[in-house]
Amino acid sequence: MTYPRLLIVGPQGSGKGTQGERIAEALRIPAVSTGDVFRANVKDGTELGLQVKAIIDAGDLVPDELTGAIVRDRLAQDDAAGGFLLDGYPRNLAQVADLDGFLDERDQPLTAVIELAVPREESIQRLSRRAAEQGRADDNEESIAKRLSIYESETAPILDVYRERGIVDAVDGVGSLDEVFERIITALAARGITA
Ligand code: ADP
Repeated sequence: MTYPRLLIVGPQGSGKGTQGERIAEALRIPAVSTGDVFRANVKDGTELGLQVKAIIDAGDLVPDELTGAIVRDRLAQDDAAGGFLLDGYPRNLAQVADLDGFLDERDQPLTAVIELAVPREESIQRLSRRAAEQGRADDNEESIAKRLSIYESETAPILDVYRERGIVDAVDGVGSLDEVFERIITALAARGITA
């Protein structure tokens, strides 16, 4: 059996948050979404929330050190010992190096990276729909443009690193939620990752 230590990567609007939660539920592992952690802190008005709100609303990245410390603490909790799914971290090469550091300490490397591929026009359409439905403060035109551009320049290159390690499964993210989920589950099963 292969431990599910997973990362899901995809552009804004690719559906990675939704699929990430479904995968985590199916495999009974915690989903760790840095975006969700930040949003919860903003909502609760914590010190962390106050620190990051303006950064997130503008579509910029929260400093690597701050984000890294949060993920490190979360992965050290008991429920992550048998596996986890990361969503939204790492998002640049420096964070890949930080994460490698945390996981190497425990001899627990990532076992699969799901790349959710969605054309740019499709993800922009989905984001404008989400903006209307959910009213997320960072789903405004300027912030979306900035996040997509950071995705292309900083996040997409992390896939090359993981591709070299032979752990990336590219999954077509266009289709119904169930169709895309099936594709992901099939790809993971081919690596021996099952519930
Ligand atoms: P999206 O993928 O639509 O941008 P997320 O929920 O993944 O949504 O992230 C929302 C915001 O949270 C990001 O724009 C960024 O400001 C912050 N954030 C999330 N993850 C990270 C990270 N790994 N490093 C730095 N900032 C992050």
